[in-house]
Amino acid sequence: MKKNINTECLHAGYSPKNGEPRVVPIYQSTTFKYESSEDMAKCFDLDSNGYFYTRLQNPTNDAVAAKIAALEGGVAAVLTSSGQAASFYSVFNIASAGDHVVCSSAIYGGTFNLFSVTMKKLGIDFTFISPTASEAELNAAFRDNTRAVFAETLSNPSLDVLDIELFANAAHAHGVPLIVDNTFPTPVNCRPFEFGADIVIHSTTKYMDGHATSVGGVIVDSGNFDWTQNDKFPGLTTPDDSYHGIIYTEKFGKGAYITKAVVQLMRDLGSIPSPHNAFLLNLGLETLPLRVERHCQNALAVAEFLKTNKNVSWINYPSLADSKYYDLVQKYMPDGTSGVISFGVKGGRKAAIKFMDSLGLASICTHVADCRTCCLHPASTTHRQLTDEQLKECGVSDDLIRLSVGIEYIDDIIADIAQALEKAAQA
Ligand code: PLP
Repeated sequence: MKKNINTECLHAGYSPKNGEPRVVPIYQSTTFKYESSEDMAKCFDLDSNGYFYTRLQNPTNDAVAAKIAALEGGVAAVLTSSGQAASFYSVFNIASAGDHVVCSSAIYGGTFNLFSVTMKKLGIDFTFISPTASEAELNAAFRDNTRAVFAETLSNPSLDVLDIELFANAAHAHGVPLIVDNTFPTPVNCRPFEFGADIVIHSTTKYMDGHATSVGGVIVDSGNFDWTQNDKFPGLTTPDDSYHGIIYTEKFGKGAYITKAVVQLMRDLGSIPSPHNAFLLNLGLETLPLRVERHCQNALAVAEFLKTNKNVSWINYPSLADSKYYDLVQKYMPDGTSGVISFGVKGGRKAAIKFMDSLGLASICTHVADCRTCCLHPASTTHRQLTDEQLKECGVSDDLIRLSVGIEYIDDIIADIAQALEKAAQA
């Protein structure tokens, strides 16, 4: 029987038997011992489920991946060493030189760079479209060689909310899957597979870990996309010469996409997390629903406070009733969006910097989703090399503060922000 996500966060992926450790153990071992060469050969031939080398599979990593697959409602998952690796593998698993991907322009800057510069060098072309593209605009972006659509369910840092069904329908009409990055809402607030997305990825570095200890990522497959419906995915539907001529869709059915990512991409590129990091991620996952709920409650209270503060020029938080995304929020993430807010400090760059420097409780970090409140002034840090014109193009005004509201006591968070805004007004 399917259990509530609060229960799954604690129990999915690992069921200890009589006398076994209650908590997922850390299998900090690169390798695994066998009684005979034949036993090990079966593992190499993928005829047995045994572990043989941690670059491909490890019991700690697998238990945590299975938990995240359950949270998203998918059939299989693989952990990666970072969110960046998850984004890369999710696309590279089904696209190669000469292929094309349709991608929302509202994505994390690191992903944008990965796609538009690094993967372009590998011969994969991306067309970037608005996250609010109409059906006609979406359809116009496809080409014969398009192999996937990629978008963020709630984008970093612009906080655009994706119309998942619209994007999924367009992708399916062109015979390709929709891959979504669900890092910000997490499966606690949004389960994209229920709306037609086919593959979900996360930077687990963010809310899933939640304590700023471990960089990591994950790819989850819904198992719903039929890779054999056309000839666009030969890597999955024709023999893999590097794996004894295996045809992934024939041998692994709904597990084809993740199996290929593990035995081919992990084998060759090797971006696995350490079992110790997977263990820490698992501790974070255990309390994910509690933290996400508190992050969202606190963020809404901070957003309401900022809305009425005379030293704030604008505010962007999609859960506010007057947000342009309010209807999409009600459909896709009605219980909350995330703890991340962006807003403008009156007085521009100088006042924004004074605000940042006056904070006491909130720390200045290039991070979001930590349980501790943190914030960033992108114009003077992550985006400081850009001209005013370029800042405008990527939607980063010089007064913009990105605030990741933590789970501290709300009055303390608001008091800190209030005193810093007072000081900023005198800058
Ligand atoms: N996806 C999103 C939405 C992110 O915010 C980030 C990082 O900030 C990434 C992916 C990349 O993840 P990582 O830093 O774990 O490589």
